Amino acid sequence: MTPEDILTGPLLERIRGRAAGYDRDNAFFHEDLADLQAAGYLKIFVPAVDGGLGLGLTEAAQLQRLLATAAPATALAINMHLVWTGVAQVLAARGDSSLDFILQEAAQGEVFAFGNSEAGNDSVLFDSRTEAVPLPDGGYSFTGRKIFTSLSPAWTRLGIFGKDSSAQDGAGELVHGFITRATPGYEILPDWDTLGMRASQSNTTLLDGAVVPAERIFRKLPVGPNADPLIFAIFACFETLLAAVYAGIGERALTLGVEAVERRTSFKNGGRSYAQDPDIRWKVAEAAMAMDALYPQLSRVAADVDELVDHGSQWFPRLVGLKVRATETARAVVDLAIRVSGGSSYFRGSELERLYRDVLAGMFHPSDDESAHNTVANAWLGPLDTP
Ligand SMILES: Cc1cc2nc3c(=O)[nH]c(=O)nc-3n(C[C@H](O)[C@H](O)[C@H](O)COP(=O)(O)OP(=O)(O)OC[C@H]3O[C@@H](n4cnc5c(N)ncnc54)[C@H](O)[C@@H]3O)c2cc1C
Repeated sequence: MTPEDILTGPLLERIRGRAAGYDRDNAFFHEDLADLQAAGYLKIFVPAVDGGLGLGLTEAAQLQRLLATAAPATALAINMHLVWTGVAQVLAARGDSSLDFILQEAAQGEVFAFGNSEAGNDSVLFDSRTEAVPLPDGGYSFTGRKIFTSLSPAWTRLGIFGKDSSAQDGAGELVHGFITRATPGYEILPDWDTLGMRASQSNTTLLDGAVVPAERIFRKLPVGPNADPLIFAIFACFETLLAAVYAGIGERALTLGVEAVERRTSFKNGGRSYAQDPDIRWKVAEAAMAMDALYPQLSRVAADVDELVDHGSQWFPRLVGLKVRATETARAVVDLAIRVSGGSSYFRGSELERLYRDVLAGMFHPSDDESAHNTVANAWLGPLDTP
């Protein structure tokens, strides 16, 4: 089965056709979601015997790249569901069945979202400002503020984590679990009004004593970086699928740039197409070369995860390096596409204008530029000396 068998031409064009309207109206992509559910897209990682597509990260990345060429915000938000289901599959492939329930529930149509990011938490997964209070029956009550929860109007399962400060002799423990849409004690704030990625509707989620029962607590980890396979699985799926989305934005921008260059004519040069202008040709070539370097890196990293390649301590540098390469390349390529397309791309409603806003979001996702460079520098140079 090829990506085009799943995201067929007509489906992709329907999704592309709605993207400008969602962006203009700051509306969630309900119709795209229904179409993608009908195509089995939310079951990419679910085993075929359970009614899923039974695919791996390699194919998922190809699909997400393709989807992002049509609708970046739809692809970015769907990523969150794919990350959870991908994490479950990556763990299962390594003999860890602790998240198998995610694949089973995804098979039944549940939609998973990622409620991890917190205001003012630059430790990301390694500490939390959300309070996780242990209950006598083994469950936990969560209170805190989760920001940028994509899929807010549609999720039925939200992955959250918080810190039980009383655990581990007061050192604290990070507790991970899932709430359902019916769980009392959370509120979704109507605060998503952003420059780009508007259809993702990544609203703030306030947790106010939301209870996760014992059987839905799937990890308790010490505060600080650690080598639990969950952390590897989240990084592997998150960074790779995120890179795929931004690769799709770059790919689309290049296509639009080429179309514009072929369409535009030069008065000065006797009505010849800008495709005959050496300066413009140079910029198109530069954009194409940048994209050419990205595709093989993306597919290699995804395949290495699928094939259980052991990169040891070089795994995290590879993953964060891919994310930075993809988001920065996409930004540069959108910029070049706008430069060769001329002033029409500056008008509200032009696709390149939207891509220009959407692509900026890439710099905010973990690992951000500083954290990624720190990870890679540590892998090559060791940690900084303590003064
Ligand atoms: C389009 C998009 C979709 C995303 N989707 C998801 C998702 O589905 N799930 C998810 O978990 N994450 C998601 N992320 C979140 C992302 O991973 C980052 O966490 C997010 O971009 C915040 O980045 P930041 O820390 O640089 O922001 P900052 O600007 O540093 O902080 C964000 C907010 O926190 C406030 N803040 C900053 N410091 C403090 C402080 N010390 N005390 C109190 N408040 C403070 C700021 O005022 C601001 O309102 C998404 C991001 C984007 C751009």
